[in-house]
Amino acid sequence: MSEKQLNITVRGTGIVGVWQAFVLASKGHNVTLVSKTSEPFSEASSWIAGAMLAPFCETESAEPVIRRLGLQSMPLWQEAFPHVKSNGTLVVAQPRDTSELKRFARQTSDHATLDAAQIEDLEPDLAGRFRTGLFFAGEAHLQPRWALTHILQKAMDAGAQTKFGSSDVPAGSDYVIDCRGIAAKDQLANLRGVRGEMAIIRTSEISFSRPIRLLHPRFPLYMVPWPENYFMIGATVIESDDTGPVSVRSGLELLGSAYGLHSAFGEAEIVKLSANIRPAFPDNIPKIIVRDKVLHVNGLYRHGFLTSPALAHCVANYLETKALDEEVFVVEH
Ligand SMILES: Cc1cc2nc3c(=O)[nH]c(=O)nc-3n(C[C@H](O)[C@H](O)[C@H](O)COP(=O)(O)OP(=O)(O)OC[C@H]3O[C@@H](n4cnc5c(N)ncnc54)[C@H](O)[C@@H]3O)c2cc1C
Repeated sequence: MSEKQLNITVRGTGIVGVWQAFVLASKGHNVTLVSKTSEPFSEASSWIAGAMLAPFCETESAEPVIRRLGLQSMPLWQEAFPHVKSNGTLVVAQPRDTSELKRFARQTSDHATLDAAQIEDLEPDLAGRFRTGLFFAGEAHLQPRWALTHILQKAMDAGAQTKFGSSDVPAGSDYVIDCRGIAAKDQLANLRGVRGEMAIIRTSEISFSRPIRLLHPRFPLYMVPWPENYFMIGATVIESDDTGPVSVRSGLELLGSAYGLHSAFGEAEIVKLSANIRPAFPDNIPKIIVRDKVLHVNGLYRHGFLTSPALAHCVANYLETKALDEEVFVVEH
């Protein structure tokens, strides 16, 4: 319990906002969580995420701070959400793309190289399909929709009030934590949108225990197993603010790559194709921007699930002790 109880408004109910509300309410602050939409997740980019917690794989293209925040967040997820699957990540490539696998291995850490028999031991349904792969045992994944709903409920259980279907900030807030994702572009000039498209398919013909990343020079794909025979296939990374429907080209890439991973996906049911916007700053590193009594927590790019818990604790520490994590805070005067 913190010594001084603050009145805090959290704007936005994506993964950033629900984690902020949960952590701040758990510390004894009076939190009001505001969602523009009456159904809290209907516009959130978090709703369509893969929700891989992949601090090691992501270092292929992300700065070391992402790995640090991700490693800080893993135990916070495990403590808050009982359905985190800590089964690691398997990375494979077709024999013609072995150079991609070597490049990926060089750019990442904390992996073991597997032969065909070891791949089969981990994922029996991939038997005979890949000669070599990389296993990242320290990674995890979760079902994002279940996790969002669960963390929102935990915030409310900890005392957070909710105000859904309105953008109004209640009067009398000591601090406002702005977690509006790409909508905060009206206040954050250098925030940009990176469009992500994904597919959800369903089949009982195949099961995986962990996310599988299929490397390819042009169409790298990952597939995340969700409960009840659902699979999330992700994701495109397109420099665009467009939230329109998935294009034929992207749909073909996503579904075609799944078919390339295992031909039995050819018989799977297409459940949904969705697109939304990842909010990102030019360096693709999340930031906590302090403007007097407003803190913007934004720019989580491909790492919203991976880093939100750690960022929520950064904000709580700042409000209580003025401690700054130099790699993520920007204090504007
Ligand atoms: C296809 C895809 C796959 C991904 N896979 C992963 C992954 O595997 N692992 C990972 O860590 N990350 C992943 N990400 C990234 C992750 O989803 C984002 O980093 C994250 O969703 C950003 O969360 P956010 O809370 O900032 O934004 P959002 O989830 O977009 O939430 C913003 C919220 O603010 C609300 N809002 C807007 N305006 C207002 C207002 N005026 N008042 C109140 N509320 C408002 C919106 O309605 C929305 O609910 C993926 C993203 C995509 C698109």
